[in-house]
Amino acid sequence: MDVIVLQRDLRLLDNPALFYGSKKGNYCVIYVYDKNYWQSYGRSPRQLKFAVDCLKELEQNLKKLNSKILIFEGSFEELSLFLNKELPCSKIHLNHCTDNLYHRRDLKKFLSNFKGDEVDIYDNFGLQLHKFNRDNWSRDWNLIMSRPLLSSPCNSTFDKKLPLLNFEDFEQSLNINALNLSRIQKGGEKLASELLGSFFEYRVDGYSKKMSCPREAEIACSRLSPHIAFGSISIRKIYQELNNILSFSPFKKDLYSFKKRLHWHCHFVQKLETEPELEFRSMHPFCDELRTEENSELIEKWIKGQTGFPFLDACISYLNSNGWINFRMRAMIMSFASYNLWQPWQKTSPLLAELFTDFEPGIHISQVQMQSGVTGINLPRIYSVFKQSLDQDPTAEWTKKIIPELKNVGTDLIHNAELKDLYFDQIIDPKLSAKKARDTIWAMRKNNDFKKVAREVYLKHGSRKKQQFNRTSS
Ligand SMILES: Cc1cc2nc3c(=O)[nH]c(=O)nc-3n(C[C@H](O)[C@H](O)[C@H](O)COP(=O)(O)OP(=O)(O)OC[C@H]3O[C@@H](n4cnc5c(N)ncnc54)[C@H](O)[C@@H]3O)c2cc1C
Repeated sequence: MDVIVLQRDLRLLDNPALFYGSKKGNYCVIYVYDKNYWQSYGRSPRQLKFAVDCLKELEQNLKKLNSKILIFEGSFEELSLFLNKELPCSKIHLNHCTDNLYHRRDLKKFLSNFKGDEVDIYDNFGLQLHKFNRDNWSRDWNLIMSRPLLSSPCNSTFDKKLPLLNFEDFEQSLNINALNLSRIQKGGEKLASELLGSFFEYRVDGYSKKMSCPREAEIACSRLSPHIAFGSISIRKIYQELNNILSFSPFKKDLYSFKKRLHWHCHFVQKLETEPELEFRSMHPFCDELRTEENSELIEKWIKGQTGFPFLDACISYLNSNGWINFRMRAMIMSFASYNLWQPWQKTSPLLAELFTDFEPGIHISQVQMQSGVTGINLPRIYSVFKQSLDQDPTAEWTKKIIPELKNVGTDLIHNAELKDLYFDQIIDPKLSAKKARDTIWAMRKNNDFKKVAREVYLKHGSRKKQQFNRTSS
């Protein structure tokens, strides 16, 4: 018989493990719920809630195929012992998933308890899992994305009783609806398809400009990120639907900009896949000598949105409530922690990840490193919180909506964070701290040994799309 093990691939359609694992009919579907995983690096209840939404819809769809989701409570390693006892000699199917160290170690132990031909692992994104070669990466990605979509799995004939939780009991036991997560995006294939449809039809109009402003980006961005992260839609489906409409859409420029980002998604996940140590170590190893001391008081004020800079605090507070904010604001939040506060990214990164419903370790960790100037292959960019406030929220209306106690304060005072007793004190001098950070980073980058190592980093991780070394946006 066949056992399909679900990770972050919670959909019925274009799901290789479900499709191939169900072919012979005698199959069961197991979701692994491991409490320790949900407390590991960057994981949080808002992401679990999203995953449960997806599972709920998947369960309803599987029931139509005479199947259902069984919940295994424990680690992957424990699941392997369970399967060997209860369902010996089964074939196991799972989609590959690039995740944090906890998951990687656990999965390794799981796999070590089976013979090689007992487990089939399918590529779920456009990654090079075996023959990694940066030079062929784009070609391989296009090939994977162009393959036909996989249809719905087959009906199940499986009727063995297993000592596992059913989905309804599992959902009840979590009691996740009791948490105040009403503003967090909801999961599921239906919502993912609706988002894709409305984005291509009209929301994408002006996407490439509007994506920078948090107020406009909320509508103008696809908002597909948590769906991609938890697999309630496949990137291949998005990519193919995009290609179908590109030639006649009036929004070609915006759609090309979106297409590039689908490519980036996998490009970034590939970095962590190729070098899992990046979870803890800077891409350019010299950069780990930069920020050796941590100030937990500063970090706490930062992650709570109490920095004394209203626009920055509004962005953090918005992210906290909604589980999402646009790219530029994520970059500014991270840049502030790493450059202005000069805190080690290893300490701040998981705290930020917990706030994202769409936490995708490969993207998150690569972006955190880029916005902290520790990759060695990207030009450091220090975001000015004053400039972003003025550019992205000129009337300060958005900031005032999020921080109502500032509603009667003048716009200039908000942009310049000159609020005296009305608001939190500034936790740092932004101009002096930015200058110090810039000088320190550039002094290190001028060193010839630094440049030699940076070249090696580029060969391993750098995008080949832009030829000029050091000017890549990857
Ligand atoms: C510090 C930092 C941390 C980030 N962490 C994450 C994360 O954990 N998960 C995550 O999905 N994105 C992350 N991003 C990238 C980006 O901000 C989000 O993908 C985007 O805001 C999601 O919104 P959207 O789906 O509406 O994006 P759209 O603009 O509609 O883009 C479509 C899809 O392309 C991909 N994408 C978009 N921008 C990027 C990018 N710069 N790099 C890689 N892929 C991209 C995402 O899968 C996204 O869903 C991070 C960025 C920064 C600066």
